[in-house]
Amino acid sequence: MSQRVARFGTTIFADINALAGEHGAVNLGQGAPDFDGPPEVLAAAVEAVQSALNQYAPGIGMASVRQAIAAHAQRFYSQRLNPDSDVLVTSGATEAMFAAILGLTDPGDEVIVFEPVYDTYVPNLIMACAAPRYVPLRGEDWRFDADELARAFNRRTKAIVVNTPHNPTGKVFSRDELRIIAELCLKHNVLALTDEVYEHIVYDGANHVRLATLAGMAERTLTISSLGKTFSVTGWKIGWAMGPAAMVQAVNQAHQFITYAVAAPLQAAAATALNLPLGFYENLQSNYQARRDRMVEILRRAGFKVFPPQGSYFVMIDWRGAAPRHVQDDMQFARWLIEDIGVACIPASPFYHEADKHLGRYFARFAVCKKDETLEAAAEQFAKLGKT
Ligand code: PMP
Ligand code: GLN
Repeated sequence: MSQRVARFGTTIFADINALAGEHGAVNLGQGAPDFDGPPEVLAAAVEAVQSALNQYAPGIGMASVRQAIAAHAQRFYSQRLNPDSDVLVTSGATEAMFAAILGLTDPGDEVIVFEPVYDTYVPNLIMACAAPRYVPLRGEDWRFDADELARAFNRRTKAIVVNTPHNPTGKVFSRDELRIIAELCLKHNVLALTDEVYEHIVYDGANHVRLATLAGMAERTLTISSLGKTFSVTGWKIGWAMGPAAMVQAVNQAHQFITYAVAAPLQAAAATALNLPLGFYENLQSNYQARRDRMVEILRRAGFKVFPPQGSYFVMIDWRGAAPRHVQDDMQFARWLIEDIGVACIPASPFYHEADKHLGRYFARFAVCKKDETLEAAAEQFAKLGKT
């Protein structure tokens, strides 16, 4: 095994899925819906497979899906993108971010990430020989300290990664917060890589703001999103990167030699999905609001301190109020919850780097992207709390 990867652990999602399966726990761990996406989108994939759309798609993505991605950006954010030069289709947001890091940073460059941090970014940076620079999100609403952020920028800073709505906290970065980030990017000539896979899942009237639409940012922001979360097809792994042609070209320099091109029939269905009428997106929003509200209620009733999210698939809790004394940290909590209570969640410390692991010690993340029955099954399991 190379030194490059030898220090990576197993992703926490695989570990928790295995343990949850072993114990038959209600799985509120990994952010994957346990229901299907819109029937017309599924039908479009079937039709594409049966219409001989089964050979390599163009490396940059099929024209119909690039056009649909650009039209979606125009419809929701008034962004103007040329589908032929400003959009690249990738194997999920995951590949888009890795290709972006490979295509836009050099060894020794620093990249700022907010912590807790989605678990792929830092291994991506390490594989690219770039150095992560961490800025913590703290307190009830997971704020960053503007001075601390400003101090993280220096001569070696090449980019900042902004994930909003944020996994695992559910934070939605406000326009004011994004303005602070934008000003620093402009001042220090730094690129922004945004991960907006939860762009359509926001709560309580929260507004998802696209960093690329702030003054001066269109020229230096690569926006990444994907089909999986919005259309409940996380297994399809269709994502995209969009932004100025020069940045997209840099990402494609890497992409062409990582995956080259991504699943053709699923791209065809992606065009159908992205072009769905507004009613689909409104419905999605209200369904998720109901799921989130129920999840918050279940977790509160179970005795946890809950941090109601403004967006994303997730609800973070502080577990201390409802765990037995022998449970000392988030990893022990997740194991105890699976084994003794029968519910799986994701401990928070894997979203922190070694020096900051303690910051995640009392947090755990629950996924709300589940059928009503699944949430109710979890509520029933939680009824055991206090009786074990
Ligand atoms: N970014 C974030 C913040 C995520 O939560 C996830 C997956 N849950 C991804 C990226 C992965 O997206 P994809 O499946 O499109 O690669
Ligand atoms: N993004 C998903 C989550 O946070 C998991 C994706 C994965 O398993 N890598 O739950």
